[in-house]
Amino acid sequence: MVFAPATCRRLIVKIGSALLVDGDGGVRSAWLADVARDIGTRVAAGQQVAVVSSGAIALGARRLALAKGGRASLEDAQAAAAVGQIALSQIWAQSLADAGLTAAQILLTIDDLENRRRYLNAAATLERLLSLGAVPIINENDSVATSEIRFGDNDRLAARVGQAARADGILLLSDIDGLYDRNPATAGAQHIARIERIDARIRAMADGGSASGMGSGGMASKIAAAEIAGHAGIDLAIASGTTGRPLSEDARHSIFTAPRTRSRARKNWLAGRLVVRGNICVDGGAARALTKGSSLLAVGITGVHGRFQRGDVVDVIAPDGQIVARGLAEYDAGDAARLIGLARDAQAAILGYAPRSAIIHRDHLVLL
Ligand code: GLU
Repeated sequence: MVFAPATCRRLIVKIGSALLVDGDGGVRSAWLADVARDIGTRVAAGQQVAVVSSGAIALGARRLALAKGGRASLEDAQAAAAVGQIALSQIWAQSLADAGLTAAQILLTIDDLENRRRYLNAAATLERLLSLGAVPIINENDSVATSEIRFGDNDRLAARVGQAARADGILLLSDIDGLYDRNPATAGAQHIARIERIDARIRAMADGGSASGMGSGGMASKIAAAEIAGHAGIDLAIASGTTGRPLSEDARHSIFTAPRTRSRARKNWLAGRLVVRGNICVDGGAARALTKGSSLLAVGITGVHGRFQRGDVVDVIAPDGQIVARGLAEYDAGDAARLIGLARDAQAAILGYAPRSAIIHRDHLVLL
C-alpha cells in the first residue's frame, strides 16, 4: 500500500482522465465504485483524503459530440469542461455516498493558489473540510481559466493542493506504474522505484505527452509535480490506477522522496518566491515564543509597518532590529495595527468580527 494511513495522515490522490473515462467518453463506474470503497477504508483508518479528479473535458466532449476529445481548441475545452464538470461531481458525490462518505467540490484556478490571500482561504477551506471527514473533490476551473491562467494539467494542480493542504503524501494514479529510464514501450526499459533527487537525467527520462491521449499530463508534468511537492517537503508517488483497488493493493510504483526538512522547504518557499510587503515589530517575549514554535499573537506586537494585505508576506522584527521570522499575515496592515498589544478577548470589539487565532499562524511562519 502506498502511503499507509498510519504514516500518512493526509493524502492527496490524483486521478487521471484515462482511468475515469473509457474510450467512448463513458464513466468507468465499476472502477470508480472500487476506488470510492478504497477511500472509505482509508478514511475509516484515520487518513484524511482529498481527490484531484480529471475527467471533466473528456466527459463533456462526448455529451457535446466534440472532436479530439474536446481538446481541439481552448473554447471547446472550456465548453466541454462546463458540461462535464456537472457530470463529474454527480458521479463522485454518488460513488462516495455509496461508500458512506461526503463529497465536497472545489474548483480552482492557478490564481487561487498563487495569490497569497486566496491561497490562505483555499488552505483554510481544505483544512476545515478534511477535519470534518469530508472528501474534497478538486479540479481546475477549466471553463473560466484562459490559457495564461491555467495549470493545464492536474498533476501540478495536485502538487499545489498538497502544499496548500499541508499533505503528507501525494499519489498520482495513472495508466502507468511509474517512471521508466526510457519510453516504457521500448525493450529493456527499466522501472525506477525510488527517486531522491530530480536532476537533468531524471527529467530526460520523461518524454512529454500522454499515453492515452486523453489527459494533458504525461510524465513531464508528473516530474514537475514531484518538484513542487519536494519543495514543500511532501513525498509524491506515481502508481498505476488500473488495478481493481489501486489504493489498497501493494502494486509497483515510483516514489519521489522529499527532503525530510519540511520547515526548510517551507522557508525556501516563503523566502524565495514572495515579495515582503511589511514589517511587524514584536517584544522580546513574543520573539522568544516564536523560536519555540508558537504563532505570533497580537499581544506581543509593538508596531506594524507597510501596506500589506491578508495573505501577504511580512517580516517579524525583534526588539534588537533583527528579522526573526517571516510569514503570511492573517490580517491587513490596518487591522493588525488596531490589534497591537491586545489580548484575544479584547479583539472582537475592535475588529467588529471574530478574531483569527493569530496575526501569523505558526503553520505559515518560518524562523530566519
Ligand atoms: N482539468 C481537466 C479535466 O478535468 C484535466 C486536466 C488534465 O488532463 O490533467 O478534464
